[in-house]
Amino acid sequence: MTDTVDQPSQNNTSTVADTSDTEELEEEVQELEQQLTDLHEKFVEVQTEKKKYKQRLDRVTRENKKLKQSPMFVATVQELLAEQEILIRQHGNNQEAVTEVTAEMHEELEPQDRVAIDNSLNVVKSLTKETDVRAQVMTVDAKPDVTYTDIGGLDSQLQEVRETVELPLTNPGQFEEIGVRPPNGVLLHGPPGTGKTLIAKAVANQTDATFIQLAGSDLAQKFIGEGAKLVRNLFETAREQEPAVIFIDEIDAIGTTRTESKTSGDAEVQRTLMQLLHEMDGFEDRGDVSIIAATNRFDMLDDAILRPGRFDRLIEVPAPDTDGKAEIFEIHTREMNVGDGIDTHELALMVDEDTTGSDIQAICTEAGMYAIRNDRTEITMDDFQNAYAKVSDSREMQTGPVEGVAFA
Ligand code: ATP
Repeated sequence: MTDTVDQPSQNNTSTVADTSDTEELEEEVQELEQQLTDLHEKFVEVQTEKKKYKQRLDRVTRENKKLKQSPMFVATVQELLAEQEILIRQHGNNQEAVTEVTAEMHEELEPQDRVAIDNSLNVVKSLTKETDVRAQVMTVDAKPDVTYTDIGGLDSQLQEVRETVELPLTNPGQFEEIGVRPPNGVLLHGPPGTGKTLIAKAVANQTDATFIQLAGSDLAQKFIGEGAKLVRNLFETAREQEPAVIFIDEIDAIGTTRTESKTSGDAEVQRTLMQLLHEMDGFEDRGDVSIIAATNRFDMLDDAILRPGRFDRLIEVPAPDTDGKAEIFEIHTREMNVGDGIDTHELALMVDEDTTGSDIQAICTEAGMYAIRNDRTEITMDDFQNAYAKVSDSREMQTGPVEGVAFA
């Protein structure tokens, strides 16, 4: 009898204990899951940071390597001789020489191929065909998709660019009739990410012109004669596709004030610059081609570029003022689902003075990411604040130690 009374009471106790154990375990599982989500987010953030560092390291390593390399010479293969030897003719002095190459190279090379050779006439590498080089350094876009309405806070700059670049492309006859030489082009200068490339693309879009972009650093070739040849190719390509807008970013790479050091690399960069100025001056042969150049280092530019008659307008593209920032926030949130109470003017006041258009674009994208992470479909002011904190952190990271690394 006693047994039958005691049994259920024992069972009850163990059921209560089991339930509280299960609750505890569930709590623990929830906590662990939360920790896992946090860790995962942290992991994604760290991976992003790592990627950024890696990209910076790669860039600095590339620049470092470029600086350390001594220039090479270009030669053309004349004949393939027996026993891994080839006959080459050097460009510039036309001297012929017989040099030995690896078996692999001997098999790959053909007469008329261009090769890079060092001071001892060793073939360092075979140069890609000219068309490949063109393709590598130039980006040709038949119709860029940027319009003037995608650019905020740069009204006066846009007006100047339109007068100088757009008019000669849309109405070249007007210049002929009046007997005025159409402008050579404009030089945009200002901090990175303020919209210089956007302006050039919008002009090309507006004038139905082909947009041809290349970086000055790609023109600063270390092979003798190559830079000038690329400039000629650039203008040829533009003429083939006229009307065209040529956009040369980082013009300082070939137009920086000459230093005391007179290496053959410097001389080569000078020759490239001269070729560029020559092509710009020859308007009759230039066709319906406008030139927009851009630089972040205006103070370093060579007088040869700044002399009157070279670029008709030197236009500063600064970081936007508060109204400009508000306009840019407006543009970049146009397609986003932002909360009703969000005022772009308030956002413009939230960010610091030096915030550029590209920072604002990054802030808007990041704010969207915060909303997604929190399972929301609407972006709140908090999202913008968090995004701003994150973007300014990464901006500091990018601008901070770079010099230290570059000069190490
Ligand atoms: P860099 O000197 O580094 O080449 P940049 O001045 O050419 O920079 P852009 O490439 O034009 O800068 O801008 C980068 C991005 O930042 C653009 O694609 C755009 O999204 C945004 N941006 C920059 N400035 C503006 C602006 N004034 N209005 C709207 N968006 C802008």
